Amino acid sequence: MSDYKIEEHTYDVVVVGAGGAGLRATLGMAEQGLKTACVTKVFPTRSHTVAAQGGIAASLSNMGPDNWQWHMYDTVKGSDWLGDTDAMEYLAREAPKAVYELEHYGVPFSRTEEGKIYQRPFGGHTTEFGEGPPVQRTCAAADRTGHAMLHTLYGQSVKQKAEFFIEYFATDLIMSDDGQCQGVMAWKLDDGTLHVFNAKMVVLATGGYGRAYFSATSAHTCTGDGNGMVARAGLPLQDMEFVQFHPTGIFGAGCLITEGARGEGGYLTNSEGERFMERYAPTYKDLASRDVVSRCMTIEIREGRGVGPNKDHIHLNLSHLPKEALHLRLPGISESARVFAGVDVTKEPIPVLPTVHYNMGGIPTNYWGEVLNADAENPDRIAPGLMAVGEAACASVHGANRLGSNSLIDLVVFGRAAAIRAGQTVDPKAPNPELNKASLDRALARFDKFRNFNGGTPTAELRLEMQKTMQADAAVFRTDKTLAEGLEKMKGVASKMSDLQVTDRSLIWNTDLMETLELDNLMPCAMATIVGAEARKESRGAHAHEDYPDRDDETWRKHTLAWVNDENVALDYRPVHLNPLTGHNEGGIDLKKIAPKARVY
Ligand SMILES: Cc1cc2nc3c(=O)[nH]c(=O)nc-3n(C[C@H](O)[C@H](O)[C@H](O)COP(=O)(O)OP(=O)(O)OC[C@H]3O[C@@H](n4cnc5c(N)ncnc54)[C@H](O)[C@@H]3O)c2cc1C
Repeated sequence: MSDYKIEEHTYDVVVVGAGGAGLRATLGMAEQGLKTACVTKVFPTRSHTVAAQGGIAASLSNMGPDNWQWHMYDTVKGSDWLGDTDAMEYLAREAPKAVYELEHYGVPFSRTEEGKIYQRPFGGHTTEFGEGPPVQRTCAAADRTGHAMLHTLYGQSVKQKAEFFIEYFATDLIMSDDGQCQGVMAWKLDDGTLHVFNAKMVVLATGGYGRAYFSATSAHTCTGDGNGMVARAGLPLQDMEFVQFHPTGIFGAGCLITEGARGEGGYLTNSEGERFMERYAPTYKDLASRDVVSRCMTIEIREGRGVGPNKDHIHLNLSHLPKEALHLRLPGISESARVFAGVDVTKEPIPVLPTVHYNMGGIPTNYWGEVLNADAENPDRIAPGLMAVGEAACASVHGANRLGSNSLIDLVVFGRAAAIRAGQTVDPKAPNPELNKASLDRALARFDKFRNFNGGTPTAELRLEMQKTMQADAAVFRTDKTLAEGLEKMKGVASKMSDLQVTDRSLIWNTDLMETLELDNLMPCAMATIVGAEARKESRGAHAHEDYPDRDDETWRKHTLAWVNDENVALDYRPVHLNPLTGHNEGGIDLKKIAPKARVY
């Protein structure tokens, strides 16, 4: 191995990732008086959160009656009863506070005539515990909510003197022999130097792994790096089989058309011009939750009622909406439709198709963001020194299916919770850990191995093979046959990791090496997804299994845990948290209201 020099940095807290979750955690940690570094592979405001359009859910009641219990109920039902009750309560209760904080930090929300934060309807968000009409709960800054949040949170973090390490690629966690996280190794992309961040607390906020699939709305940078690091540290990933397909990715391009488009009155039609969602979801129609709408679209296409010459997509109609509303509330998607589909939304429908959008699964945590080194015997055991927030994490508030606008709120509620917790558990006066040399050596050896890979398979080729396999065999609908075949294929794909070819040996702006390291993070995510899916013999939320069309609470209301070791995946399960944080007679939710039942919209 070449002789690498490593620069060591010492902090109380190191946050990896500068999306909405990472920035909210960074800001909160710095506010707590902790010496905080934020390490990010892209410039903070280029993180995928910047692309979030529709908005952020919180029961502010600015546009009609609402309360946190209704928000919690919708989240429980949206999760198809797989979310953890305590975490979902925490999310719904803290959401208004977290949004008002954003407002006070300076997020330029759209406004109602009285000057309050504007809120729009979104799929699966209802009133009166699912008995009443849709609610306007999704707070929005036009259709650029994530953009507004990132810019504000970055500015505030800088103001609080958090230190940013931008275009540093984190490669591996540094772990003590007894499982304490002590820091993280990173590669500075623009000058090729290596760094180790020694920290009392590491927070992973590295986002989702949408790029394990061929067609995804997420950025090319969404490669599950934090999940990969956790898997290599011998910790489990949770509920990875639940992958959300968004109903309205632009056909061919994959870019997202926000659900806010249907919230503002847009609707889907098939080749007969029929508003088919009325047939499947008579009450909430086009605003049923995402997994439901994606499945209905797929059925329409399968039964020959798709649009276009190949009858392989669906139309989203907005042209009946007033031009001013489109201009004011949906300017970004009007532009996307023009650029990526050549469509003028004031005149023509947008061609759309369900597209991979979000990962419900990830690094298991409690509702403080503390990572769980869980197994069946120790379902809530904490991995010391390590937290995870945002799409990389699985708290679990989204369970088997996430509601639209519940991710942005998850980022800020749990980013904030992690900071509050670290304020209690991290002592700024305590000495930093002494880094485990063996762990650092392993991280270096892995880096060096990839840098010098000299096999026969280019990274891009193997990545494409993985993406196509996942797209075909771990899709909207799954069967025993597709999953078993997909799993065999994926084992073959994963085994080729040892035959990769990296042609660039330099350390400066070596995108070949970076993409290889990213592929090494995507691969365990893909493996955990397909193995977890193959094992789960029921249908729940985004996991629609045609051989087992019903939800089976008796056997399967439990979280999947997956330990990934190259092409081998070991599974175990942990129970769903059924208890809320507060009892009904203390102002908490009435458990009868959230008892499992059939999920219809
Ligand atoms: C197009 C689109 C629209 C969406 N719209 C909405 C919406 O309207 N409402 C809603 O609630 N949700 C929406 N979502 C979902 C939501 O935006 C995401 O789930 C959320 O933004 C993820 O935020 P995050 O902070 O977890 O990660 P990201 O924003 O993805 O940020 C990840 C960060 O980690 C860093 N990172 C990753 N790997 C490394 C590494 N190895 N080393 C160093 N740094 C690393 C990156 O640099 C980046 O800063 C949307 C998603 C998409 C794709």
